[in-house]
Amino acid sequence: MIKPDGVQRGHVGEIISRFEKKGMVMKALKTYQCPKAVAEEHYQDLSSKPFFGDLVNYICSGPVVAMIWEGPGVVKSARLLIGATNPLESAPGTIRGDLAVEVGRNVIHGSDSVESAEREIELWFGDKAGC
Ligand code: ATP
Ligand code: MG
Repeated sequence: MIKPDGVQRGHVGEIISRFEKKGMVMKALKTYQCPKAVAEEHYQDLSSKPFFGDLVNYICSGPVVAMIWEGPGVVKSARLLIGATNPLESAPGTIRGDLAVEVGRNVIHGSDSVESAEREIELWFGDKAGC
């Protein structure tokens, strides 16, 4: 998912291009104004963190671009393309390493396991998403 800062800063095309160049196949894409309840459920594992409220407000601060990508080892491979959570620690050449400086504005989300991806696809693209 390209987060609101990635969309607002005009990085959608570049990010999609990086995934395509790697050889992944796009299966679905939509722009989406995330309701608070969806953001809270998406990041439910982090609900006890002090930054949780700011994180939910950030994800809901503007449209995101939600995507489903397919390919061999795609979850792990996507996380490598995305880079470490804190952009100050993300390697140059990764999306966050090249495009971000703040952990609270780190441009893109990637599912951290196949199970998370299945849960998130249902949350973002299933009936609950509302579009
Ligand atoms: P994401 O789930 O967004 O792909 P991630 O898996 O790399 O990121 P998580 O630990 O799941 O990292 O954290 C989710 C998001 O919460 C981060 O991408 C970041 O936007 C925010 N976040 C994480 N740690 C902090 C922090 N210490 N301060 C502020 N925001 C944070
Ligand atoms: Mg995560």
